[in-house]
Amino acid sequence: MYLRLARRLLTEPDKRLLWKAAWTLGVGGLLSVAKHKRRLKRGEFFPPFLYLSVINSCNLRCQGCWVDVAAKQHRIELEAANRTIEEAKAMGNRFFGILGGEPFMHKDLLKIFAAHPDAYFQVFTNGHFITDEVAAELRRLGNVTPLISVEGTEIVSDTRRGRLGVLSQTMQGLETALKHRLMVGVCTSVCKSNIDDLVRDAWVDALIKMGVMYCWFHIYRPVGPEPNPDLALTSEQQRRVRQFVVDTRVNKPIVVIDAYHDDAGNALCPAVTGFTHHIGPWGDIEPCPVIQLATETIHDGRPLAEKFNGPGFLKDFRELTAGQTRGCVIMERPDLLVQLAERHGARDTTARGEVIEELKRVEPRRSQYQPGDEIPERSLVYRWAKKYAFNDFGTYGKHFDPQKYRDPDLQKSST
Ligand code: SF4
Repeated sequence: MYLRLARRLLTEPDKRLLWKAAWTLGVGGLLSVAKHKRRLKRGEFFPPFLYLSVINSCNLRCQGCWVDVAAKQHRIELEAANRTIEEAKAMGNRFFGILGGEPFMHKDLLKIFAAHPDAYFQVFTNGHFITDEVAAELRRLGNVTPLISVEGTEIVSDTRRGRLGVLSQTMQGLETALKHRLMVGVCTSVCKSNIDDLVRDAWVDALIKMGVMYCWFHIYRPVGPEPNPDLALTSEQQRRVRQFVVDTRVNKPIVVIDAYHDDAGNALCPAVTGFTHHIGPWGDIEPCPVIQLATETIHDGRPLAEKFNGPGFLKDFRELTAGQTRGCVIMERPDLLVQLAERHGARDTTARGEVIEELKRVEPRRSQYQPGDEIPERSLVYRWAKKYAFNDFGTYGKHFDPQKYRDPDLQKSST
């Protein structure tokens, strides 16, 4: 399978883009993780990967979206984005995740990419704004991979995304990106309405046939103003997705990303392990995109490294959560987030101003942490990559106390 994948990588995308990804994301990414490990040893902290939501606006209205997409448009402007990326690069970072809203609605998005040829950007997009002109510019720049979200068949997509004709527009953007030989990924927020259509070999085979180089199966998180908890997967379905990911990695010539398990299949949260944190459209520094609480901002003139390195909300978030679960705190223990917000005076970073009430309404449920059901990587390549570059960096070994773990499934069955 590895030879087939290597042949695809060497023949399908533009070779210049492949080498750019291999060097800036691959080597650059590994070096940033090495720096992160050395910092941790010195008792310092700066996340090696940063996610920036550069705009709140979006042309879609997805179920379970936590972003204020209908609120007055707010952007991380070009100057602030460049300053933030420069400060992170000074700490050794080379990879940045770009989210929204819909990032391609940001008027200066391409200028941000152009300003940092020594960095690599993964853009989470619905694909609707990837025109020939945009794709040609992304190819010229070479440091961007569009990660295009597909949420189901035509009907399911329209329902999931709150508009008509969503899938055909997404597929058009996807085909345009592939026509320009970009490194393209497809992601899905797996939920009850799309698991049977998309978590199967036929869908992955279709992606490979189209020329897609990597895929990512997120787990739907029932959060935000309209959480739609009925869409959330059962524990059994979550295990099914995990098994599918592990099997696809040894069976199919396509890269499969995940952010929630180490080489042995132990669950982790990339925000709790400090692998990544998030900067929202208003400049707030948050644990992750769905935890819309903050005490720090990029707009106060203080060095970014200082805001990440000190005691306070983010550090306490990592340590407190790591002590209680290896899973997703917003799904399993939203009460801890309310506690943390009160303890640190963390502000609600949304325009709607209802985050605390939303957290109090969340019905706890299991997430990626399925104690006793760990599914280890079968692929040697992924096992090595995770052993070296993607694990908990000792976080749970230091803090996790199984006695403190509250199993949402047991809680539910005992009430
Ligand atoms: S808190 Fe949940 S959604 Fe946020 S990074 Fe952790 S696992 Fe993911």
